[in-house]
Parts: sequence; structure tokens; C-alpha cells
Amino acid sequence: MGRFKNTKYLNAIQKGIMAWSSENPRHLPWKDNRDPYQIWVSEIILQQTRVEQGLPYYLKFMERYPTLLDLANSTEDELMKIWEGLGYYRRARHMHQSAQIIVQQYDAIFPQNYSDILQLKGVGSYTAAAIASFAFDLPYVVVDGNVIRLISRLFALVDPVDDPSVRKEIENLASMLLDKTDPAFFNQAIMDFGAIQCKPVHPECNHCPLQEKCQAFQKDMVNLIPAKKEKKPRKTRFFYYLVPYKDEFFYIRKRSTTDIWSGLFEFYLIEFSEEVDWSKILPNVDLPIKRVHRQQNKYKQQLSHQIIQAEFLTVELIDDISILERDKYTRVKRKKIRNFAFPKVIDCFLKDKDVILNLH
Ligand code: SF4
Repeated sequence: MGRFKNTKYLNAIQKGIMAWSSENPRHLPWKDNRDPYQIWVSEIILQQTRVEQGLPYYLKFMERYPTLLDLANSTEDELMKIWEGLGYYRRARHMHQSAQIIVQQYDAIFPQNYSDILQLKGVGSYTAAAIASFAFDLPYVVVDGNVIRLISRLFALVDPVDDPSVRKEIENLASMLLDKTDPAFFNQAIMDFGAIQCKPVHPECNHCPLQEKCQAFQKDMVNLIPAKKEKKPRKTRFFYYLVPYKDEFFYIRKRSTTDIWSGLFEFYLIEFSEEVDWSKILPNVDLPIKRVHRQQNKYKQQLSHQIIQAEFLTVELIDDISILERDKYTRVKRKKIRNFAFPKVIDCFLKDKDVILNLH
């Protein structure tokens, strides 16, 4: 490895990446942007999200919150509605809190040095480096998934890249490659190179300007790198939702647990660790049910560490809804139900128009 860390070798890689980027410009709405607020929003949206999926959310977000003050002055419920469907909702809550901190502690001016940016909620070393370099030209290297893959292949790192020591090695190598005279351009170039040229599957090795320098290519190991630790199998949770309504109103409640989907709304939930029949569930439900609609709906949602299997049963209530009021359920007009932010499984259920229209 030592001989691959010499300055000449590293310079050649750096120049190759930057030349490739000049010849292959990538057009994205947040590129060439120097506004730290807009860079921050784009980077947070793109965490755990593909560009194609994140782009419409970014545009919607910017339309509704063109400035940091607009975001800070929003309600969390409204922000959740904008974020609905994007997942990892903690990102949105952290942004909201950070926007308010910036208003209070920095007079609404985005912090301009790396360590202050790193203090913001939900901002890790990658996002802080992206904002510091793209907005303020500070010499911090970004290490996202694309950069990790590219570097692990260039230097033929065969150990799992999610191992902290390997990650550290990759960050060191990325820092050594960084062009400190133009960190913004270099950072964009290395991320684009990883995303477009050194793709996860079928990388463009045959047309790659770094082919001769790439240790994985030279050793015919491209398909083996990057290696990852074996993932634990995802556990399945079984959510049984009763959808209570009375006249023109549904009853919903905001999830406030430390569990998934905190801050989103939901119907009356009963959870099991295995599949259960409604006939076993209903007799034990503490709700004043007048009528059960026969229509049942099943939906599945895959999260990073778990799978949610959700079933819905719509139930009409009798007059006494004190139990729901006691448990802090909110009465919402059926027509207004789409104004609230729900987890994807519930959103899918609500999009199934028959479910709503068949309540007669
Ligand atoms: S030769 Fe292939 S694996 Fe190596 S950097 Fe180029 S595209 Fe990536």
C-alpha cells in the first residue's frame, strides 16, 4: 500500500478525477450553488436517498421554504407533510431544530466554519464537509457512499468498508487526494466520478481514465470491492390498524415514541410479533365499535432494519368516543385527512380511494 501513497501517484489520481469531471459535467439544481442553506437542504435530503427520488422533494422544499427563516418559522407538522414519503423523518425534525438554533444563536446567518456547522443537529462529518467546501471553499473532503466505493477500489481495500478502521483509512486517503486549492470542485468531481463512472454494479472500467492506477482493476477484484459486513436479517413487525370513524370524522393520533415514524400520524394501532387473525384481535379491542367494515387491506414497507406488515380494518364507532379522547386522538374531517403526514403504509392505504369512499 505504501508505494500507492506517494505524491506522484496521488496527484495523478487527483488530476484524472478532475479532468474527467470537466469533460463530464453533471447538471443538478444544487450544483454550483454557494448558498449554505440550499446546500444543507440538498445534502440532508440526499442522505439515504437516491438523487432521482430526492430531487422532487428538494424542489418542493425550496418552493415552500426558500429561506432558513421560512423553515425556522414553519410548524413541525407542516414540515412532516412536505417530507412525507421520503423516510428517515428524524432528518426533517433535526433540520427544523437546527434552523431555529441558527436564527437564535447566529442571527439567522448560516455558521461559516466547519466545527460550528458540525454542531448542527443531524449534521455529520460528511455534510459538514460538503457545506464547508461548497459554500465557503474550506479544505474538507467529502466522503459519501460513492467516494467510499471509488477509494476502496482504487486502493484495493478488501476489508469491509463499514469497519471503522477501514472507514478511517478511506477518509485519510480521500484527504490526501483532496485538491486544497479548489476543494469545492474536487469534492463534486470525486462524488460524480463514483456515482457515474465507478458505479456499484457494472462500473465503466473499460473507459476509465484511472484504469492503470486502479488497484482493484489491475488485480481483477473490482467485483469483490467494496466488501461489507454481513447484515443481520431484518425483523418483521405486524401492525394492525383499526381505522375508527364516526359520521364525517376519522380519529388519528401523532406518534410520539422513540420508535420509528415519530411525529407522523396514525390510526389506532395494535402491534404483534407474528401474523394474527382479526377475529382474535377484535374481542380485546378497547374501542366502542358499532360496525366493522369487511374490507381489509394489507400493505408492506421495508425499512433499513425492519419490515412492517400492516393490515387495516375500518370501524364505525358508537356515540361515546371518550376512550379516544382520553388517549389523545384527534378528530379529523375525512376530506382533510390528506393534510396530515402519515407513514408510507398508511399513505398507501389512504390512496386506495375505495377505502374512503366505501364508508356508507
Ligand atoms: S477502473 Fe473501474 S473500478 Fe477502477 S476506478 Fe475505474 S471504474 Fe472504478
